[in-house]
Amino acid sequence: MSGDTPVACDYCKKPARLVNGRKLYPHRQDLFDKKFYQCEPCDAHVGCHPGTEKPLGRLANPGLRQAKIRAHGAFDPIWRSGRTSRGHAYKLLAEQLGIIQEDCHIGMFDVDMCNRVVEAVNVINSMPLNAHAPRNRSKHKRSRKQKHQ
Ligand SMILES: [Zn+2]
Repeated sequence: MSGDTPVACDYCKKPARLVNGRKLYPHRQDLFDKKFYQCEPCDAHVGCHPGTEKPLGRLANPGLRQAKIRAHGAFDPIWRSGRTSRGHAYKLLAEQLGIIQEDCHIGMFDVDMCNRVVEAVNVINSMPLNAHAPRNRSKHKRSRKQKHQ
Protein backbone atom coordinates (compact mmCIF):
# COMPACT_ATOMS: atom_id res chain seq x y z
CA MET A 1 0.00 0.00 0.00
CA SER A 2 1.27 3.42 -0.80
CA GLY A 3 0.94 6.30 1.61
CA ASP A 4 -1.68 8.11 -0.43
CA THR A 5 -4.67 6.10 0.73
CA PRO A 6 -7.42 8.68 1.14
CA VAL A 7 -8.29 9.53 4.73
CA ALA A 8 -11.99 9.05 5.38
CA CYS A 9 -14.11 11.04 7.79
CA ASP A 10 -15.13 8.84 10.71
CA TYR A 11 -18.60 10.30 10.80
CA CYS A 12 -19.84 10.43 7.21
CA LYS A 13 -17.19 8.05 5.78
CA LYS A 14 -16.49 10.44 2.92
CA PRO A 15 -12.92 11.29 2.01
CA ALA A 16 -11.53 14.12 4.07
CA ARG A 17 -9.78 17.06 2.47
CA LEU A 18 -6.15 17.93 3.13
CA VAL A 19 -6.04 21.57 4.20
CA ASN A 20 -3.59 23.79 5.99
CA GLY A 21 -3.95 25.51 9.31
CA ARG A 22 -4.77 28.83 7.69
CA LYS A 23 -8.17 27.46 6.70
CA LEU A 24 -9.03 25.89 10.06
CA TYR A 25 -7.44 28.38 12.41
CA PRO A 26 -7.35 31.78 10.71
CA HIS A 27 -6.26 33.36 13.99
CA ARG A 28 -3.39 30.97 14.62
CA GLN A 29 -0.54 32.05 12.44
CA ASP A 30 1.70 29.46 14.10
CA LEU A 31 -0.52 26.73 12.61
CA PHE A 32 -0.73 28.11 9.07
CA ASP A 33 1.91 25.75 7.68
CA LYS A 34 0.58 22.69 9.44
CA LYS A 35 -1.49 20.17 7.57
CA PHE A 36 -4.87 18.83 8.59
CA TYR A 37 -7.54 16.58 7.21
CA GLN A 38 -10.91 18.20 7.34
CA CYS A 39 -14.53 17.19 6.76
CA GLU A 40 -16.36 20.47 6.59
CA PRO A 41 -19.97 19.14 6.81
CA CYS A 42 -19.11 17.26 10.03
CA ASP A 43 -16.91 20.02 11.47
CA ALA A 44 -14.33 17.30 11.94
CA HIS A 45 -10.59 17.47 11.50
CA VAL A 46 -7.30 15.98 12.58
CA GLY A 47 -3.72 17.19 12.39
CA CYS A 48 -0.84 15.43 10.65
CA HIS A 49 2.43 14.11 11.97
CA PRO A 50 4.93 16.94 11.56
CA GLY A 51 6.28 17.23 8.03
CA THR A 52 4.00 14.50 6.66
CA GLU A 53 0.49 14.04 5.31
CA LYS A 54 -0.05 11.21 7.76
CA PRO A 55 -2.99 11.88 10.10
CA LEU A 56 -2.31 11.84 13.84
CA GLY A 57 -5.46 9.83 14.41
CA ARG A 58 -9.07 9.79 13.40
CA LEU A 59 -10.97 12.89 12.44
CA ALA A 60 -12.57 14.45 15.48
CA ASN A 61 -15.75 16.48 15.67
CA PRO A 62 -16.26 19.07 18.44
CA GLY A 63 -17.60 16.47 20.89
CA LEU A 64 -14.66 14.14 20.37
CA ARG A 65 -12.17 17.01 20.50
CA GLN A 66 -13.54 17.91 23.94
CA ALA A 67 -13.38 14.27 25.06
CA LYS A 68 -9.76 13.99 23.91
CA ILE A 69 -8.82 17.18 25.73
CA ARG A 70 -10.39 15.73 28.89
CA ALA A 71 -8.57 12.40 28.40
CA HIS A 72 -5.20 14.11 27.88
CA GLY A 73 -5.91 16.43 30.77
CA ALA A 74 -6.39 13.45 33.06
CA PHE A 75 -3.66 11.23 31.65
CA ASP A 76 -0.74 13.49 30.75
CA PRO A 77 0.00 14.64 34.31
CA ILE A 78 0.90 11.04 35.21
CA TRP A 79 4.10 11.29 33.19
CA ARG A 80 4.46 15.07 32.93
CA SER A 81 4.71 15.23 36.70
CA GLY A 82 7.68 12.88 36.55
CA ARG A 83 5.92 10.22 38.58
CA THR A 84 6.75 7.75 35.83
CA SER A 85 7.94 7.72 32.24
CA ARG A 86 5.61 8.42 29.33
CA GLY A 87 6.11 4.89 28.00
CA HIS A 88 5.33 3.33 31.34
CA ALA A 89 2.26 5.51 31.75
CA TYR A 90 0.92 4.31 28.38
CA LYS A 91 1.65 0.73 29.36
CA LEU A 92 -0.40 1.14 32.53
CA LEU A 93 -3.19 2.84 30.60
CA ALA A 94 -3.30 0.03 28.03
CA GLU A 95 -3.51 -2.51 30.84
CA GLN A 96 -6.40 -0.66 32.44
CA LEU A 97 -8.24 -0.36 29.15
CA GLY A 98 -7.61 -4.00 28.26
CA ILE A 99 -5.93 -3.21 24.96
CA ILE A 100 -2.41 -3.70 23.66
CA GLN A 101 -0.01 -0.85 24.10
CA GLU A 102 0.43 -0.42 20.34
CA ASP A 103 -3.26 0.50 20.10
CA CYS A 104 -3.09 2.85 23.04
CA HIS A 105 -3.17 6.29 21.45
CA ILE A 106 -5.69 8.81 22.73
CA GLY A 107 -5.69 10.33 19.25
CA MET A 108 -7.25 7.14 17.93
CA PHE A 109 -9.92 6.80 20.61
CA ASP A 110 -13.61 7.55 20.31
CA VAL A 111 -15.64 9.43 22.94
CA ASP A 112 -16.38 6.25 24.87
CA MET A 113 -12.73 5.27 25.09
CA CYS A 114 -11.76 8.80 26.10
CA ASN A 115 -14.22 8.57 28.98
CA ARG A 116 -12.70 5.22 29.96
CA VAL A 117 -9.26 6.88 29.99
CA VAL A 118 -10.46 9.28 32.67
CA GLU A 119 -11.69 6.33 34.77
CA ALA A 120 -8.48 4.39 34.16
CA VAL A 121 -6.42 7.36 35.31
CA ASN A 122 -8.24 7.32 38.64
CA VAL A 123 -7.11 3.73 39.11
CA ILE A 124 -3.54 4.46 37.97
CA ASN A 125 -3.34 7.44 40.30
CA SER A 126 -4.06 5.16 43.23
CA MET A 127 -1.10 2.94 42.31
CA PRO A 128 2.37 3.26 43.80
CA LEU A 129 4.14 4.13 40.55
CA ASN A 130 7.60 4.91 41.78
CA ALA A 131 8.46 1.29 42.42
CA HIS A 132 8.38 0.43 38.71
CA ALA A 133 9.24 3.73 37.18
CA PRO A 134 12.40 4.03 35.15
CA ARG A 135 14.54 6.97 36.14
CA ASN A 136 12.91 10.09 34.92
CA ARG A 137 15.09 12.86 33.61
CA SER A 138 12.97 15.85 34.29
CA LYS A 139 14.40 19.31 34.56
CA HIS A 140 13.24 19.42 38.15
CA LYS A 141 15.74 17.24 39.82
CA ARG A 142 14.36 15.70 42.89
CA SER A 143 16.57 15.81 45.87
CA ARG A 144 15.91 12.26 46.80
CA LYS A 145 18.26 11.04 49.42
CA GLN A 146 19.43 7.56 48.64
CA LYS A 147 20.41 5.74 51.72
CA HIS A 148 22.81 2.86 51.51
CA GLN A 149 21.78 0.01 53.62
ZN1 LIG B 1 -17.71 13.86 7.60
